[in-house]
Amino acid sequence: MVYDMNPQMKERIERTIRNLEKHNIHGLFVADENELRMKLQEWIPEGSTVAVGDSMTLSETGIIEMLRNGNYHFLDKYRPGITRAEKQDIYRRSFSADTFLCSTNALTETGELYNVDGNGSRVAAMIYGPDQVIVVAGINKIVKNLEEAEERVRKTAAPLDAKRLQKKTPCVSLGYCVDCQSDDRICNDVVIIKRQFVKGRIKVIIVGKPLGY
Ligand code: SF4
Repeated sequence: MVYDMNPQMKERIERTIRNLEKHNIHGLFVADENELRMKLQEWIPEGSTVAVGDSMTLSETGIIEMLRNGNYHFLDKYRPGITRAEKQDIYRRSFSADTFLCSTNALTETGELYNVDGNGSRVAAMIYGPDQVIVVAGINKIVKNLEEAEERVRKTAAPLDAKRLQKKTPCVSLGYCVDCQSDDRICNDVVIIKRQFVKGRIKVIIVGKPLGY
């Protein structure tokens, strides 16, 4: 279903895409999940190896199912019954995948990707390894600048993720980050992608509705 966006949001999306392009990151807007799937089928060759980073957005939009059921060599870290060792093997093999799919914790209107990771497997593959990285982001991920990006992670993304992962961290009960020193802390690697050497290696698809958190 197409989400009804206000004109200000449309301007913010256009500004974000313009600034991503200035940083050698390809930006694209799609209206909904159907357009998203069509674009991914166009960009991901059949038979190629695909890996994913942890992302509610990819589950919500049906992309994980698309990869499972499609003609891809999908490194499925969500496979039921997967062992810890098998998962770690997938993390390492993800670096040589043809395509790495993920979302982002925040996407700035100034054209940067801001991410905070627990074990670094997602941000590492975003930075280097896979031939192409496709980032899928709902409009709720768009923030004005890096300052707002950090705020978004501390007040929204990380506490909700810690809750989903059933971590014993203070943010789960407080609802905001207190920069804990918990053994369960999920915020260990803070990565800002400001620009790409290889033009178009990272592609950002903004879907015209809120997705993930
Ligand atoms: S640093 Fe700790 S308190 Fe802050 S969001 Fe991460 S896990 Fe929660």
